[in-house]
Amino acid sequence: MTINTAKSLNLLFISSPVGPLGSGMGGGVELTVKNIAQEMLRRGHNLKVVAPQDSVLGTLPIIAIAGELQTSAQTQLNNDPIIMPGNAVLANMWDYARQVQADYDLIVNFAYDWLPFYLSSFFTCPIAHLISMGSLTDAMDQIIEQVANKFPKNIAFHSRVQAATFSFGNQHRCLGNGFDLSLYNFCNKPDNCLGWVGRIAPEKGLEDAVAVAEITGIPLKILGKIQDEEYWQQICQKYLNAPVKYLGFLPTKQLQKELGKCKAMLVTPRWVEAFGNVVIEALACGVPVIAYRRGGPSEIVADGKTGFLVEPDSVMGLIEAIKKIDEIDRDACHQEAEREYSIMAMGDRTEQWFWDILS
Ligand code: UDP
Repeated sequence: MTINTAKSLNLLFISSPVGPLGSGMGGGVELTVKNIAQEMLRRGHNLKVVAPQDSVLGTLPIIAIAGELQTSAQTQLNNDPIIMPGNAVLANMWDYARQVQADYDLIVNFAYDWLPFYLSSFFTCPIAHLISMGSLTDAMDQIIEQVANKFPKNIAFHSRVQAATFSFGNQHRCLGNGFDLSLYNFCNKPDNCLGWVGRIAPEKGLEDAVAVAEITGIPLKILGKIQDEEYWQQICQKYLNAPVKYLGFLPTKQLQKELGKCKAMLVTPRWVEAFGNVVIEALACGVPVIAYRRGGPSEIVADGKTGFLVEPDSVMGLIEAIKKIDEIDRDACHQEAEREYSIMAMGDRTEQWFWDILS
């Protein structure tokens, strides 16, 4: 069958059920949904985004769905069963999709949840799954593998290292990610401060960045949603003398302004980060990234060129890298973001993925 790639597609994007878009609870998925939706609309496709009630997505068309939010998958243990609340927003979003599926060429699932994978065989409209995390639980591994075997073209990952956490991952495509780089201003004259950006939750390893601030005395700006209040309080109590400033969860415009003034951004995940949106956002502002050699950031940061990769969980390794930070050309960081991670490049890769599924 030949496919007319000049045709406009009718696309239904289904967001994560862990929080409304714009709340920060969905982590990087929120910006990924926004960016891909914006780019697909710019390319002339028709599109709606199904998301939990109270979602905010600029001028993009949202179908808001009520219901109880889902617990984030990263809080689950390896052999935990699948749990869903009674009036689950996840189920309600997919019930909506079931009812309108005949109006669409393709449904795109952005949720790292069991139900959409399970439903793949029951829908007549094809479902593309953009997988936003690495392997976490047996139940999720099993259902993703089933879909990957039955619909191999319909699965995509963000990075190779993320894909490799699944036994079947290496056969599938990687999309990376892409950003509207016009929203990020290049800053060539940083202040003497470091940045840390992300959800404040144990898997993100904020405490190591705070330890760096305490040992070196270099101020650390922290930006992001406090997802785990207890974890945050533990850090505050443990590092009483660390020169840190918590700036809250900021919209992109303010985020890039604060981040741009940092002499480096620290990325200290304990888990295999699927990609690491904030790495590209930092590079776009010209900010070098010092990251643990683990997960997506280790694929993005060019060691010695756009930052440094250090031994995972080594606070001293981070400190050694900070001493060398002036060797990094901030212009090269900005150029790397432009070359590899523009929204257009991501749009090309994503559109190609959609056409391949439909061919
Ligand atoms: N973010 C934001 N404002 C903040 C801090 C973070 O909008 O103050 C966003 C950031 O733009 C990024 C996301 O939060 O898109 C974090 O995504 P990332 O992929 O780095 O990590 P995840 O949360 O998915 O593990």
